[in-house]
Amino acid sequence: MELDREEARRRAARKRAAAIRKKKLRRRRLMVLGAGALLLVLLVVGVVSLIVRAVNKGRQAAALEPTAAVAALATAALPADTPLPTAAPTPAPTAVPVTPPLTIQEDWYRERTEQLYKNLTTYGNYSDAAAVYTALEEMQIDPNGKKLAITFDDGPYSPITEQILDVLEANHARATFFVKGAYIDFNKELVARELGLGCEIGNHTTNHEDLEKLSPAERRATVGDLNDKMYSLFGYRVHLLRPPYIKYGDKGTETRTDIVAMAKEYEMAIVNHTRSSHDSHDDYTAQMMIDRILAEKDELGRGLNNSILLFHDKYQKTVEAMKVLIPALQQQGYQLVTVSELLNCSQEGLHYGWIYSKAD
Ligand SMILES: [Zn+2]
Repeated sequence: MELDREEARRRAARKRAAAIRKKKLRRRRLMVLGAGALLLVLLVVGVVSLIVRAVNKGRQAAALEPTAAVAALATAALPADTPLPTAAPTPAPTAVPVTPPLTIQEDWYRERTEQLYKNLTTYGNYSDAAAVYTALEEMQIDPNGKKLAITFDDGPYSPITEQILDVLEANHARATFFVKGAYIDFNKELVARELGLGCEIGNHTTNHEDLEKLSPAERRATVGDLNDKMYSLFGYRVHLLRPPYIKYGDKGTETRTDIVAMAKEYEMAIVNHTRSSHDSHDDYTAQMMIDRILAEKDELGRGLNNSILLFHDKYQKTVEAMKVLIPALQQQGYQLVTVSELLNCSQEGLHYGWIYSKAD
């Protein structure tokens, strides 16, 4: 009797243990099945995204039509090489990778790239369409990266401008040239080469006039003539004005009001500089220019990032300084952009009739 009861208890215990084992086994099976399903989902998502990417790539490759290619380059979300999120360890991704916030106005960037394409193909020295495309690729801007704009005043001036352009070309760098209108006629090929390298052209008046000493009509003539010349010769619209001697009327004066009104009429921004190389100072050597430009802070405590640097393409020492400065700045991670690009990428943006940068 006692034994039977004991036996029954054991049997019941065995049954319970078996039930628990079965339950555990079922749970394990479910877990394995679940993990398998998750893996399958991940696999399918991965394969589908690979196919989508391949199809897109195929489509891009098919678009060999240069304008379409340029448009694609222009609209390519910036920066282009933002890494896509890699396979996350937790839940399978359901949403498409997020595009980075666009800090560059898309319309402006498209226009800028199309203008560059036109200038490179018309005036540049590239072996074929692929070479132009590669150059354009190099001119892509990372809006979040370090940038500065190198500017040259008073040219085009032979043979200095050629040498400056040689340095820019060798380093795949670009700059902005504030030219004198009267010099363009004798140096058309230099202006063409500037455009062909992706540089920007700004207005430094026709004969380096002091705008404060001119009447409103004379101001419009000296500035407007240069703009007209650039358009008739190169189909190029100038949008930057750098008044000679940094003279554009004191704040609150009629002169200032008129110059600002003129800039607006002509769709131009008035642009000075933030850091001068002092190359126009007789006692300044190339090494002193280099030290001054590379200094971490200027007299006003401003850093080098987003600077507008002032040089003149009319001194031999400026050429010597550029040979050192351009690679040095690139090595420090600066993108050497044009003034319009710098302003368009800035928080305030580029606006006609605005005055930019206090000169030092
Ligand atoms: Zn000047």
